[in-house]
Amino acid sequence: MTDRFLQDKAALVTGSTQGIGLAIAEALGGAGCRVAIHGLGDAATIESAETAVRDAGAAEVRFFNADLRDPGAIGSMMREAAEWGGVDILVNNAGVQKTTSLEDADTETWNAVITVNLSAAFHTMRLAMPAMGERGYGRVINIASVHGLVASREKAPYVASKFGLVGMSRVAALEYAALGDRASGGVTVNCICPGWTETSLIEPQIEARTQQVGGGRTEGIADLLREKQPSLRMSDPMEIGALAVWLCHRHAHNITGTSVPVDGGWTAQ
Ligand code: NAD
Repeated sequence: MTDRFLQDKAALVTGSTQGIGLAIAEALGGAGCRVAIHGLGDAATIESAETAVRDAGAAEVRFFNADLRDPGAIGSMMREAAEWGGVDILVNNAGVQKTTSLEDADTETWNAVITVNLSAAFHTMRLAMPAMGERGYGRVINIASVHGLVASREKAPYVASKFGLVGMSRVAALEYAALGDRASGGVTVNCICPGWTETSLIEPQIEARTQQVGGGRTEGIADLLREKQPSLRMSDPMEIGALAVWLCHRHAHNITGTSVPVDGGWTAQ
């Protein structure tokens, strides 16, 4: 039987209409959590995400459509989420990616990536964390990347955003470390740093590599993995979801300020 240890908790997972965010929302729902899903997408995508999280076992599902490029929209979402019962678990997962050399990167690309991947997490954390401190329990799980720990070519805005997210998470971890106690679970802030994970975010890179090496999609993926990810296996989003849920346990109260790679050995090299 699934352990429904989060049945008295509520979570907000940004960018959970698909991909890693949806898998995290499902995993939290499976642990009995009330889950606010969020993201951009057409009505069918949103409905399908809501159904998936409900079917996974979420006590309640709610959808927010704030565009994270708009701090005002983030503020409204966080106010509504507080009225909905508060955010015990905040997962900053929404992210965008654009590969381009530094020379070719324009201001628009830089702003788009930094705004969604970094500034949005600043706004949600700033607004959600004081209530976590008052309750003595809170979990902030920021979905960074291996690119929050190491660099790759042609990803300057993305790498900058993810290193920034890792740094900001450490500061928040320190500021909230002493709040709550072992029984309440404390307030922790951690990053999960995935390597290659099967979602639509990396499709453009798979397509580009497939064209470069010739052959089919399988060869393109194999070539990407050979270059960086020693396990030669992609991660499944549900594996990131399982780790996120684990971090929400009370017994993880002393795990804070960390960045956990899920990268098949990428950053061990
Ligand atoms: P995805 O493209 O499948 O999903 C991204 C989500 O973010 C979607 O729900 C989308 O609606 C939302 N989003 C994007 N821009 C938004 C905006 N302006 N306002 C509101 N919502 C917005 O991506 P994914 O692969 O599931 O990535 C999730 C996170 O994991 C990202 O932060 C990404 O950087 C990180 N990550 C992914 C991989 C990978 O290999 N897939 C590897 C490392 C890190």
